[in-house]
Amino acid sequence: MSSIPTKVPFVNLSLQHQPIQSQIEQVIGEIIQRGDFILGQALTEFETAFAAASGVQYGVGVACGTDAIALGLQACGIHPGDEVILPANTFIATIIGVIQAKAIPILVDCDPDTALLDLTAAETAITSKTKAIIPVHLYGQMVSPRQLLDLANRHDIIIFEDAAQAHLAEREGYRAGSIGKAAAFSFYPSKNLGSFGDGGMLITNDAEIAQKMRTLRNYGAPSKYLHTEIGTNSRLDNLQAAVLNVKLPYLEKWNRDRTLAAQYYNTLLEPLKHQGIVPIANHSHSGHIYHLYVIRVTEKSPIDRNTLQEKLARDGIQTGIHYPVPCHLQPAYQNLGNRGDFPRAETLCEQILSLPMYPGLSNIQIEQVVKAIV
Ligand SMILES: *Cc1c(COP(=O)(O)O)cnc(C)c1O
Repeated sequence: MSSIPTKVPFVNLSLQHQPIQSQIEQVIGEIIQRGDFILGQALTEFETAFAAASGVQYGVGVACGTDAIALGLQACGIHPGDEVILPANTFIATIIGVIQAKAIPILVDCDPDTALLDLTAAETAITSKTKAIIPVHLYGQMVSPRQLLDLANRHDIIIFEDAAQAHLAEREGYRAGSIGKAAAFSFYPSKNLGSFGDGGMLITNDAEIAQKMRTLRNYGAPSKYLHTEIGTNSRLDNLQAAVLNVKLPYLEKWNRDRTLAAQYYNTLLEPLKHQGIVPIANHSHSGHIYHLYVIRVTEKSPIDRNTLQEKLARDGIQTGIHYPVPCHLQPAYQNLGNRGDFPRAETLCEQILSLPMYPGLSNIQIEQVVKAIV
C-alpha cells in the first residue's frame, strides 16, 4: 500500500490526554500504592460524579456499554420473551444487550433527516408483549424526551436510553440518561468521555434498580458469598474510574469544542446542499454533543458516498461510516428483518459519511476537509 500522509485524522485522542497526562499518572500511582483495584474508592467517586453530572441519582459502573444495556435491562425487570423496541440503524451493541437479557429485539425505522429512531414507527410496533423502548441518542443528539415520555406513558412501557454516544447531551431541559427508568453509557476510548480501555455505566433514579445492578455485576451477590441472582462479573476497573475522574471535569469543554467544530462544518457545507451534500439535521438546535459529525451524500450528489470517501482518503483525510450495514442485514441477525423492511435506515447506510471530529480539531483542518469534498 502506498502511504498517504494524514492531513486530518478521524480522531486524535493524544490532544486531550497530553495536558492531563501527569495528573492521570499520579492517580494511577496512588492506586498502585494502595492496591485498590476492584470496587474501590475511585469507582464510587466516579459513579456519584457522573450520575450527578447527568442529573441522576445513582451510577453503577460496569465493564462496558454492552453490559450496561444487557444487565441494565435485567435490573429494570425485563424478562425473557419481553419485546424491546430499538432502531435498525444503531451500533450492534444495542441489539446484543437486548438479546443477552433474553428479550426479543423489535427493530423500527429512523427519521431520514436526523437518523434518530422514528417514534411514529415505534408506536406502530408496540404489541401486548412490548415492555421497553430503547431510544439511541445517535451521534450525540437526543431523541425528543417529551415525545418519548408521551409515548411511554400512553402505552405503559419502560424507556431505557442507550446514551453511549451522548454524555451530557441535552434536549428540552433533559440531560441524556435522565428521561426514563435507566440509561446505559459507554466509556470506550473514542466516546466523548473515554477511559483507557473498556468501561460502561448504568445510571438511574431508582434505588432498587441501582441495587439490583450492583448485584448483577458482582456475581449476583448483594453481599459476599450470598448469591441471590446468577449475575456475572462485569465491573468498571478502579484504575479506569480514576482516569475518568480526572477527565470528567473537562467533558463540557470538550463537548463545546465539538459543537463549535460542527457549527463551522455546517457553515462551510451550506453551499454544498444543492449538490447533494447534506449534514444530518440537528432538530433540537442545541444540546447535540457531536460524538460524530455525519453528512449524507444523497442521490443529488454527482459522486456516491464510497467514491467520495476514497477521494478524501487520497487527500489524507480519514473518515468513517456509522454504520455501513443496518442490523437486520448483518449475517447474525437475519431473523430480525428482510431487505426493504426499514427502507430509510437502509438508504442512510449507503449515504452517510462521518467526517473528522474531536476536541482540538482546528478550523484550518475543517477547511481542508470541506475543500476536499468540493
Ligand atoms: C459504543 C456503543 C455501545 C457499546 O458500548 P461498548 O462499551 O463498546 O460495549 C452501545 N451503543 C452504542 C450506540 C454505542 O455507540
